[in-house]
Amino acid sequence: MAYICDLGAGVQVYVENSGMQTTITSASSSPGQQQQASSSFTTGKWLQLPTAFRTASGVILRFESAQGQYFVQVQGNSTIALNSPPSLANAEELPLTEAGVPPMQPMQPMAPMKPMEPMKPMEPMKPMTMNNMEMRMGNMSMQMGNSAPAAKHFCPQCGAKTGESDRFCTSCGHRLQA
Ligand SMILES: [Zn+2]
Repeated sequence: MAYICDLGAGVQVYVENSGMQTTITSASSSPGQQQQASSSFTTGKWLQLPTAFRTASGVILRFESAQGQYFVQVQGNSTIALNSPPSLANAEELPLTEAGVPPMQPMQPMAPMKPMEPMKPMEPMKPMTMNNMEMRMGNMSMQMGNSAPAAKHFCPQCGAKTGESDRFCTSCGHRLQA
C-alpha cells in the first residue's frame, strides 16, 4: 500500500513500505515539466503510518519501525536520510492519504432485460391423413383388382380386343389363357 503526501506547489511524495525497504518517490509537476525521483531506504517494517511534517528546511517524513525512528528530508527532488532527529517543534503535520488505486467506478446498472416474447401458441396438429390415404389406397387397390380382369379383354401380345371367353387371340393367335 502506497501513501501520498501532497506538499503543495504541484509536488507530491509517495511512500511505500515493502519488506524492510521504504521507497520514497517525489513527483513534481509544473506546467510543461514533470520530474520524478525515487529513493529507497532500509527502515524496517512500519509500525504505523509515516508522518509528514512541513518545516523551514523542507518536508520531513518520519517512519517508525521496530528498528526505531527514521527521518527523511524531502527537498525538491532530493530525499536525504537524516542522521539525527530534526526539530519538529514548529512543524506543520501534513496528511497522508492512501494512493495508487483509483476509486472503483460504480458498475453501470444493467440494462433491464427485455421481457421474453410470449411463445406463439402451437398450431393445432392437423389430423393425421394417413388413415385416409390408406383407405384411399385400399380403394385404389380394390379398383385395380376390379379392373384387372378387364385387361384380359385385350391380347397381351398384340393388344387386339379379345372376347372374354376366347382362348386364343383372334388377331395373332396368342394363347390367352389355359
Ligand atoms: Zn393377339
